[in-house]
Order: sequence, then C-alpha cells, then structure tokens
Amino acid sequence: MLNYKLELDFALEQDQKDELSAFRNKFHIPKDKKGNELIYMTGNSLGLQPKTTKAYINQELEDWANLGVEGHTEAKNPWLKYHEFLTESMANIVGAKPIEVVVMNTLTANLHFMMVSFYKPTKTRYKILIEADSFPSDKYAIESQLRHHGFDDKEGVILWKARQGEELTNYDDLETIFEAHGNEIALVMIGGINYYTGQYFDLKRITKLGHKHGCLVGFDCAHGAGNVELNLHDSGADFAVWCTYKYLNSGPGSLAGCFVHERHAYNKSLNRFTGWWSHNKQTRFRMRDEFDQLPGAEGWQLSNPPILSMAAIKASLDMFQEVGMKKLVKKSKNLTGYFEFSINELNNEHIKIITPKNPEERGCQLSIQVKNADKLLHHKLTEAGIISDWREPDVIRCAPVPLYNSFQDVYHMVNKLKAILNE
Ligand SMILES: *Cc1c(COP(=O)(O)O)cnc(C)c1O
Repeated sequence: MLNYKLELDFALEQDQKDELSAFRNKFHIPKDKKGNELIYMTGNSLGLQPKTTKAYINQELEDWANLGVEGHTEAKNPWLKYHEFLTESMANIVGAKPIEVVVMNTLTANLHFMMVSFYKPTKTRYKILIEADSFPSDKYAIESQLRHHGFDDKEGVILWKARQGEELTNYDDLETIFEAHGNEIALVMIGGINYYTGQYFDLKRITKLGHKHGCLVGFDCAHGAGNVELNLHDSGADFAVWCTYKYLNSGPGSLAGCFVHERHAYNKSLNRFTGWWSHNKQTRFRMRDEFDQLPGAEGWQLSNPPILSMAAIKASLDMFQEVGMKKLVKKSKNLTGYFEFSINELNNEHIKIITPKNPEERGCQLSIQVKNADKLLHHKLTEAGIISDWREPDVIRCAPVPLYNSFQDVYHMVNKLKAILNE
C-alpha cells in the first residue's frame, strides 16, 4: 500500500506516475457554465464520451449515405456481422470465451430473455433469490417473471438481507438461506456489484452454493463490467447481463451485454425466445428454412442490431482493448484507495463509507452514507462542481473511474467535501 497523503503535491505526483494518465485526454470532460472542468464522479451511472466516438458513428452514417442497403456487406465494417467486432474485446473485459458473449438489446430486456431460458420453475421449486437492496429494475423483472408463471410475486422472492444495523450482506446468512430453502429456489439472481453499497460479491462462491443446491445462477453485472475483473467463465455462472453505458462509456441507453456459460452453448433443448438473428448465419437469408439454432450466446439474439449504437460501443471497447483490464484494475485500486484514505482523514462523524474496506470486495465506487440522510450535502457538492449521485435513503455514490479520473480529482473532491462539512 502507498503512503497516501491528502495533499495536492501528492496527488500531482501520483498523476505524473500514472501510466494511464494520458487516457483522460481521450474523453470529453463535462464543464460548468464558466468553462471549468467538473469533477465527474458518476461514471458508474453514465460513463463519459470518448473523443473517438463521433468518428466511429460518422463512419457508419457515411457508409449508410453512400451505400444504402449495400452497407450490410460493403461497409468498411460490414453491418451484417457488426456485433462480431465487439465480441472478443467484450469477452476480454468480462473474462469469458467469445462463444459465451454477445452484445444485444438493453439490460433489463436481456435479463428477461435469460430468465426465459434459465428460470424454469416447478410447483415445488419456483422461488428466486436476490439481494435485498437490488437495483429496482432487477427486482421488478424477477417479480414479473414470477407472476408470468402464475406464482405470487412476494412469496416467491427470497431476499438476501444485511443484518440489522449492518450495510453489507454476509455469506454465512446466504448459506443459512440455502440450507433452509435451497430446494425451493429455482434461480439465484444477484447484482454482481451492488449498485447501492458498491459491494462486489464473490460470484464463484455464490454460483457454487447455488449449484450445490440445484439452482441456476445468474448475475446482473451492470456495475461490474469495465470496473472489476469479473472472470465470468471461471465463476461458473449460468448467465450474466450488463449494460455498456456505465463503466463501458458507450452512451445513454446503449446496448447491453449478455453471457451464457459455454456449458449451455450447444444445448438446443433450452427454451428460449428466438428471431431470425438466432438462426444459423449461413442459411439465415434463405428465409424459408426450418429454424436452425446458432450456438453460443449469439443464439439468443433476435433482431438485426442498431449499428449506430454498436459503433459507439466499438469506440469504447477498442480503448479498453488498448488498456486491458489488468492495468485498469491496478490503477483503480490505487485511486479508490486514495479516495478512501482521504475521506477517512476527514474523520467526520457526519459521513461514513459503507462500501467494503477490502479492495477485492469492491470496484472503484465508494458509497458515502450521510448522517440523518442530509441531502443538502449532496446539493452543496453539486454546487461546488462535483458530480456525484444521491441514492435514497441516505447515500452519496462516488466513483473515481481509472480511465479518466485523476488523483487530483480525488484530492479536490475531498477538499471541497471537507470545506462543506466544516461550514
Ligand atoms: C443500471 C442498471 C440497470 C438499468 O437497466 P436498463 O435496462 O439498462 O435501463 C438495471 N440493473 C442494474 C443492476 C443496473 O445497475
């Protein structure tokens, strides 16, 4: 561990030593009305725009203008197989094999499509296990799946809760749940990194536990993709889904990622919703063939995809490919470590970090709990040029993102926080 100091000189020195510091300049950093750069700490919500994105999208606009429908085969990046240009780098990011990964649809839609295949309730085994403070969309999605299959959407949900007075869930409690209810649970669906606390779950451990009790296991990795090394293949999870507009910087509402473990790649008996894009590529355009399932995650695609959105994803993934997750995570641990140290230096009883202290159990986000749910603190931070977000009931989430945030960002953020707290 470094000998951190909450001093500007120290932050400057760290930025000079940082082998990724040049990447900040490859992004558009939002500015205030006077033209000063804001301190952007919400890459966990919407990642910043790479400066190259425009050119990637323009390429497709131009090919469309010049080629019309011929662009499907004649464009510089032929549209027919455009999603394939994303597969390898996305697989590297989430630690999967190319056959296990596809970019398609949006996140909650993918979660539903995965549950069509991997939520197979029976009369006695139909419940879904989820962490208590899960992202609302995930909770709504599993409840609607329960209703869809004719089950009660309250009784059918088992919550993995933090203990009274604690913020983080704990694995002993998870084991207790499985021992008591394991044979009632059809599906375990957990947010890989909890969006509220920033707790990074042990995907492999949860998967093992779930499988031991005969459950299928999936993760929503919206807060993990591009943030931590997910090692999805190795985790053994049956499926995972994530979006690309948070840490993967692909633009608001952009397409999502989907992982299906290799063990299911050639299983044609899995129920699923299909369309022409799940059909064998060689014969797709004969149009009259009997349905012939594409193997792997690609076999869950339905439609020909939106190329403009994919172009933005490609711009971002090409940058991730250049950096690599190893270097990114190395800097991330250092940067978030500095952030944690600096906040703790304030030693202020008004605020408390609820994110795990162990760097292996978190990504770059720190969730700062504010005493008496004082939302004014978040408001004042915003006025001071710090973009963070408030999450009900009482947390300010801040994510120093290693690709574009600097040690100076962290220093200035904490210094302003200090001034506001001392007012
Ligand atoms: C961001 C996020 C979502 C958002 O879902 P969309 O379908 O992309 O609108 C859902 N779940 C989790 C865990 C998230 O972090």
